[in-house]
Amino acid sequence: MLAALLAPAVGSAAGFVAKPSLATQQDPATLVLDASRAADGIMEVRERIPATAGSFTVVYPKWIPGEHGPTGPLNDLAALRISADGAPLDWRRDPNDLYAFHVNVPAGTQAIDADFDVLMNAPDDVMSSHSLAVVNWNRALLYQDGIGSHEYFIKPSIVLPADWEFATALRGATQSGSRVDFAVTPLNMLVDSPLDLGRYVRKWDLWRDGSAFVQLDAFADHPQDLDIPTSLLHAYQRVPDEAFALYGSRHFVDYHALLTLSDAVGFEGIEHHQSSDDRAPEDFLTDPDESLSGGDLITHEFSHSWNGKYRRPADLTTPNFQVPQLTDLLWVYEGMNQYLGDLLSFRAGIREPKQYPEYLATVYAEMDTETGRATTPLIDLTTGAPYYFLARGDYGAIRRNAGDFYSEGELVWLDVDTIIRERSHGARSLDTFLHRYTEPALTGPIVKTYTRAEIETLLNEVEPYDWHAFFDKYVYHTSVHPPVDELARAGWRFVYTEKPNDFITASQADDPGITGWYSYGADLSAKGVVRDVREGSPAWRAGLAPGMHILAVDNQEFSANVFAYAVKKAQNGGAPISLITSQTGWFQTLSLDYHDGIRYPHLQRIDGTPDMLGAIMVPRAK
Ligand SMILES: [Zn+2]
Repeated sequence: MLAALLAPAVGSAAGFVAKPSLATQQDPATLVLDASRAADGIMEVRERIPATAGSFTVVYPKWIPGEHGPTGPLNDLAALRISADGAPLDWRRDPNDLYAFHVNVPAGTQAIDADFDVLMNAPDDVMSSHSLAVVNWNRALLYQDGIGSHEYFIKPSIVLPADWEFATALRGATQSGSRVDFAVTPLNMLVDSPLDLGRYVRKWDLWRDGSAFVQLDAFADHPQDLDIPTSLLHAYQRVPDEAFALYGSRHFVDYHALLTLSDAVGFEGIEHHQSSDDRAPEDFLTDPDESLSGGDLITHEFSHSWNGKYRRPADLTTPNFQVPQLTDLLWVYEGMNQYLGDLLSFRAGIREPKQYPEYLATVYAEMDTETGRATTPLIDLTTGAPYYFLARGDYGAIRRNAGDFYSEGELVWLDVDTIIRERSHGARSLDTFLHRYTEPALTGPIVKTYTRAEIETLLNEVEPYDWHAFFDKYVYHTSVHPPVDELARAGWRFVYTEKPNDFITASQADDPGITGWYSYGADLSAKGVVRDVREGSPAWRAGLAPGMHILAVDNQEFSANVFAYAVKKAQNGGAPISLITSQTGWFQTLSLDYHDGIRYPHLQRIDGTPDMLGAIMVPRAK
């Protein structure tokens, strides 16, 4: 029944012809994931893979949905042993495709056994702690090369540490002691169904209608991190109804928002069709600043069940995990979703609807001060997403990164929303488009692909407009400024004032710094280390550079207060600020010629105009 719902993927892989899958519903591959030492950062896989005699190739998943790149962590697969009927077989890695392993299977053999270790914790990629772990099945399996992932079947099992619980969207769980067996599952569904496990667990119903439900399953490093305030829980319980009102449809049977609360595991959000893999700091549910700065984590990933999983770019939809995904349309998939995930967080009340303008000001200001936008259009960021997701280091505003097509996507799609609202005199909005985009109202987790032309045609049916020219301007060509008309159209103007911005303050709650990005053009740590410098700014002209340490300000030892005093004094007609800096063992005296005072971004109401931002953020659910 479920398998019948899974239409074959329409891939970017023109000409791809799937080989017959040897792992069928009747004779599936079997996979036992022994996670009993997950807290120690290691799991063991025992897999039986149906095979044919002679040369046979198995592959490790490379292109991971939701990660939008060739991110399968090949280095975390270790101690690979392949055998047949108990006899070890030599394996050889393919020299051209490092994710492929060749074996010679003896005559008369129906299956090979692959045993290996999954190492869970690498720098910037921590998947387990003392109290919890995240299982992404793509990290824990090999499969027959060249098959279609919806035609390849696996019966998965997991062995849990003593006294740990689990949660997942996988079907048919039966537990016996510490071992849990699941129903036979197509490979694409298995990879789409992560599993969280841990010692300290709370499961909250967010919504229920008959057998359909949405659940928030939280796993914490410490039991006290699960003490969610009642008001915040009620806000999360409004999210499903707000999403149903936004989209007018549902494309899952049930849905698990899987949430880890761990500083060790860190921050991440990966969307799936009937679940999400959400990873947040340990105080995510208990510190109000976390809801302000990261309050769209759950709503963003939930929204992807419609936008990204049900509706998906055709060229991002591939027949298996080895075929490259083309990521150009992430400006729809992620860009629109950034707007919708934020919108849901405000409509549900995780963040106060009246705070949206303050938030939006930070998004606009960040995008408007990126000098890289003069050379690098949004379409390059999405097309090059697998590399832009890895972009780290100094001069982030020159190099740009994948975060930009999320942030600027929010501005682009807010612009779309306000254009529809203005031209239709309030009769229609982006919500109208989303209802059409996700028809029919109820299906299981199937995929309907789209192209840019189809998005523009559907928008045109909702509101006649030259959408092609609009996206050409803001997505397909460089634009010196991000879309700005939506602000005035919504009754607001962008300004800088000396009042701190609440969202910038909240985002720095755990790591306070000095935000001079929008003033003299540099961000500093509280101790005076330069974090980054904006090209062309007074700080840039003074010669400040990332990594430099400011030791003294106007000959006084550096402190945040001393620096703030100097900026204020210079504003009142004082001389340039003198800075003594050190850089890789050398001292310099630099002159910061800046006199406009400290500035933070805000939106201000334009008197006498309707407040469209307020109208957009009003809760919709009955
Ligand atoms: Zn996303």
